[in-house]
Amino acid sequence: MQLPLNSYERTDAASATSPSRPLIFVVEDEADIARLIAHNLRASGFEVQSFVNGATILSAALREMPALFLLDVMLPGTDGFELCRHIRQTPALASIPIIFLTAKTAEADRVRGLELGGDDYITKPFSPRELVARIRSVLRGLAKETAVAEILRFGELEIDVGSMTVQVQGRNVLTTVREFRLLEYLATHRGRVLTRDQLLDAVWKETPFVTPRSIDVYIRRLREKIEADPRHPQYLKTLRGIGYRFEAPK
Ligand code: CA
Repeated sequence: MQLPLNSYERTDAASATSPSRPLIFVVEDEADIARLIAHNLRASGFEVQSFVNGATILSAALREMPALFLLDVMLPGTDGFELCRHIRQTPALASIPIIFLTAKTAEADRVRGLELGGDDYITKPFSPRELVARIRSVLRGLAKETAVAEILRFGELEIDVGSMTVQVQGRNVLTTVREFRLLEYLATHRGRVLTRDQLLDAVWKETPFVTPRSIDVYIRRLREKIEADPRHPQYLKTLRGIGYRFEAPK
């Protein structure tokens, strides 16, 4: 039996109203994989909306505000990386976690996904259990941060741990969940040298795909967002061959 898979499919209208089921937006053009994902996520307590391409995802996301995007990279038309870029450029959606789903295993693609603001990366073929674990891990990271109410201030930089927002000179700076967690971790351990491995442990504990090289990508992105001159950073200092250190300006 062939189930219909429209570009905008919602099969479970009854549970859609339940606020306790996080809504996951899935973009996957291969119908069998899309059905497998939807089935497993629903069985694990998630609400799912499936899309076969990215044509309507932004408008649907602005309406529904999903908890997380699961984006296949290889899509007809706009690919998953491009969709990620659009999501990150849309202020209302910019901090929603994104997990990429792809057959590509090349390091260059992983790095590209992170550079564009992805939070995690799952390589096909994957087990449904792994998929659910990764999604829970990313959402749990989000919940942990929002549970604490504290504002860290350093010079013109303000990190609001409660609302997960960052301001530079009073302007809001959009960050992804992982970028925020990395910045927060460095800032709360200011003055201390942290190796890439320590940062991996602290921020990406349950995310095996992330490599030390990925930390450099995140640091570069954070510098572009918070530093007046990213090439001469005042907050995020590199200790060559060792790692990074957050410094509070005097
Ligand atoms: Ca595909």
